Amino acid sequence: MTYVEDIIARLEAEYPDALCSLQYTVDWQLLFAVRLSAQCTDERVNLVAPGLFRCFPTLEAFAAASQEEVEELIRSCGFFRSKAKDLIAAADMLLREYGGRVPDTMEELLRIPGVGRKTANLILGDIYHKPAVVTDTHCIRIAGRLGLTREKEPVKVERDLAAILPPEKSSDFCHRMVLHGRKYCMARKPNCSACPLGEICRKAGVEEKGKSAQRSASGNSKP
Ligand code: SF4
Repeated sequence: MTYVEDIIARLEAEYPDALCSLQYTVDWQLLFAVRLSAQCTDERVNLVAPGLFRCFPTLEAFAAASQEEVEELIRSCGFFRSKAKDLIAAADMLLREYGGRVPDTMEELLRIPGVGRKTANLILGDIYHKPAVVTDTHCIRIAGRLGLTREKEPVKVERDLAAILPPEKSSDFCHRMVLHGRKYCMARKPNCSACPLGEICRKAGVEEKGKSAQRSASGNSKP
């Protein structure tokens, strides 16, 4: 078994359900929920989205909505002005150019207001079950610690992971990275001793940070 296969197998055993933590019932709702999740937690989006989708249950309703109405409903998600503008414009584009369907190619998805590669990959993986690498903050951090990439830029991490992950497992792998980042591999204090990847992980950057924290606590660090 290769290093990557071992990582995948351990993550699959730890998180059998590799589900997206954003709740939705139809494809465009996932697109909109991901837009709301920028600089916001999935938990907050899951609180806000049901009310939003009750007020605007269809793309037609969104496209006809006033900016102020949408802003008021999504205010607590942050950046509510630009998010409201994007949601209304996205609904309009989906209706006018795609017959109300969410497109299934990266190229088309990137044309939609507010949609970047992360959102596009999430749609490709979760809605269309295509190979997709969603490089959110958890994925970037953990892939670095595991030594799967040296990059920090999402598009470069995406490229590195796409080169080593089996395509059919890439989308679920990224969902599991999010779950792993919440449960064990937190940004500040990773719980390596309890982590199911602990025996094999290269822990790139983790021990060094621990040592420098110790040095600084004992007054040995340079200013
Ligand atoms: S061993 Fe530590 S650094 Fe590696 S994945 Fe687990 S928690 Fe993260």
